[in-house]
Amino acid sequence: MPKHLRVLHVASEMVPFIKTGGLADVVGALPAALKRRGHDARVVIPGYRKAVQEAQKRGVQWGPTPMTIEVGGVDHSVGVGTVQLDGMPVHILACNELFDRDGIYGPNPSNDYDDNARRFAVFSKGALALPGYLGWNPHIVHAHDWQTGLVPPLLERGYGGVLPATRSVFSIHNVAYQGTFWHFDMKLTGLDWSLFNPMHVEHYGKLNLLKAGIVFADRVTTVSRRYADEVQMPEFGYGLDPVLKGHGYKLSGITNGIDMKEWNPEADPHIPAKFSAKDLSGKKTCKRKLQEEMGLATDTDACLVVVVSRLVEQKGIDLVLEAVSPYILAGRMQLAVLGSGDLALEHRLHALHARHPGWVYAWYGHNEGLAHRMVAGGDLFLMPSRYEPCGLTQMYSMRYGTLPLVRFCGGLADTVTDVATGTGTGFSFGPVDLGHFSSVLDRALGLYQFFPKEWQAAQLRGMATDFSWDRVSSEYESLYRGIACAD
Ligand code: ADP
Repeated sequence: MPKHLRVLHVASEMVPFIKTGGLADVVGALPAALKRRGHDARVVIPGYRKAVQEAQKRGVQWGPTPMTIEVGGVDHSVGVGTVQLDGMPVHILACNELFDRDGIYGPNPSNDYDDNARRFAVFSKGALALPGYLGWNPHIVHAHDWQTGLVPPLLERGYGGVLPATRSVFSIHNVAYQGTFWHFDMKLTGLDWSLFNPMHVEHYGKLNLLKAGIVFADRVTTVSRRYADEVQMPEFGYGLDPVLKGHGYKLSGITNGIDMKEWNPEADPHIPAKFSAKDLSGKKTCKRKLQEEMGLATDTDACLVVVVSRLVEQKGIDLVLEAVSPYILAGRMQLAVLGSGDLALEHRLHALHARHPGWVYAWYGHNEGLAHRMVAGGDLFLMPSRYEPCGLTQMYSMRYGTLPLVRFCGGLADTVTDVATGTGTGFSFGPVDLGHFSSVLDRALGLYQFFPKEWQAAQLRGMATDFSWDRVSSEYESLYRGIACAD
């Protein structure tokens, strides 16, 4: 068994090149942590316009010749750029006609590009052609989410014919996003038509890329332990629960870590005052400055409640909107929201903002600096998700002494313990309804207002928790070692 593994991560997003959600954070951190453990880990991502711009800033080196990737009878010329990120190679597959666009998956968050099947078929095939191009054969190809769902079947069916000993791991970051396309797109996959059946890549008459990845990978993981059980149930499986149950023998959950350097209140360049568990005074400054920045009243002892999230049904923002008004009117809380997504939710937030000037603030769009300032300056962080594959922001919050209030599901259940246990780091509730949510919010605001010592003890417990990728990456290493072939 090789001591040092060669691992190629294939993903659609990666910090600092391109990000719409937690996938980018994971791919930005896990391969780097594997590298710190001595492995030869690399990443390949699509050359979206923004990713190429970011790569150019970081001195990208372009390979002398492009690769030619055939998809559905059309040859695509794919340039290979390489950026060294702290000594780890990140490869960027540039194909202007497919990726040089403003959007990532579509012209806006609510619409997809019509040629996504072709775009991600070219990317998946390109990723598998890359080892031959580089003269570097990985032990493991680790593909992430539906965009790379063709990687395991193409590898298993010998695409390119150059990676016979390479094994695949496929990670599901969110089973609700499956990459479904009409059956005519089957001809773009490079797979035989005979695989278009319910045991393989077909799901209710459509091509389903997430299913393709699950069925053909040597190992499948979810991004938290609990989510691996949940996705096998109808409530959380989004129609793929029978498939995941059927492949349960190779399914496991590894709860994500966070980038402890990027999210560190002692050295965060985005926040106005640094702080630590030893001295929380800087957190007070962060709160006041955040209130000033947002035009919120500063002459109050109210709990500053924050949300940083995609604004989608999954995240339970509708519950927040329904529940908060009485607490705001009673002067017990202020609400600050940063997010983008569903326009109807944005309109409702806007109306709430208009009704409670000085007590509610909302910023629509993606804003990395503001996300840090809100996590640092907030008292309570809300995440009443209907389901949550892992969730990262609750861990960021705990690291910054901001208590998370979460629904008990998925990675939220894995990472947050309720203060009612006496050793908790936040608050959690079960059924997703207004009654249960309001009662846990009431409990959290009560602890904040009347039991500051207990509040601070929970803050300190959260800040002391080790959420580092260094710990988590050893679990991936064991998984890889279980399937890797000797050189
Ligand atoms: P998901 O992947 O479902 O969106 P996660 O909690 O796993 O949820 O990851 C979300 C990531 O995106 C976090 O890093 C969070 O800070 C960030 N994020 C979400 N919305 C915004 C926003 N509007 N501006 C800046 N960062 C955001």
